[in-house]
Amino acid sequence: MKLSFLGAAGCVTGSKYLVEHQGTTVLVDCGLFQGYKNLRLLNWDPLPFDVSRLDAVVLTHAHLDHSGALPLLIRNGFRGAIYATPATAELCGLLLPDSGHLQEDDARFANRHKTSKHSPALPLYTEDDAHKALRYFKPLELDHQISVGSLKLRLRMAGHILGAS
Ligand SMILES: [Zn+2]
Repeated sequence: MKLSFLGAAGCVTGSKYLVEHQGTTVLVDCGLFQGYKNLRLLNWDPLPFDVSRLDAVVLTHAHLDHSGALPLLIRNGFRGAIYATPATAELCGLLLPDSGHLQEDDARFANRHKTSKHSPALPLYTEDDAHKALRYFKPLELDHQISVGSLKLRLRMAGHILGAS
């Protein structure tokens, strides 16, 4: 098994862990980089893995530094399942569209006040992109085991926030 840390390394946001095992590839979390500008700029980098090889995504919880880059994953062609607890899926239904809405607001502000060196400034993703991502959520009850290729997946209760596993 190979485990790659693609975010939250050298910082605490942008969580993305790639798990590869006997031809099965699963991404655990798909978070946004947040905080200082040099971190936020990382959100615009190409995703550091081949999206077409990804079998599934597993979300640990709904905070945007763990879930907020999912709309980018869908825009890059991912069409597999996003597994999360029912509560995490429900929270993402609120947080992701709101995140897209804020990205669009920021871009509008930058264009109106010429605060970006890009013309026009673009949102990282839109509210519509976020709604598209929500279609791929497959709520998975705690302690219910399923197979994803060569891997077995079971979400276990964790602390932190509602739905965290
Ligand atoms: Zn968190």
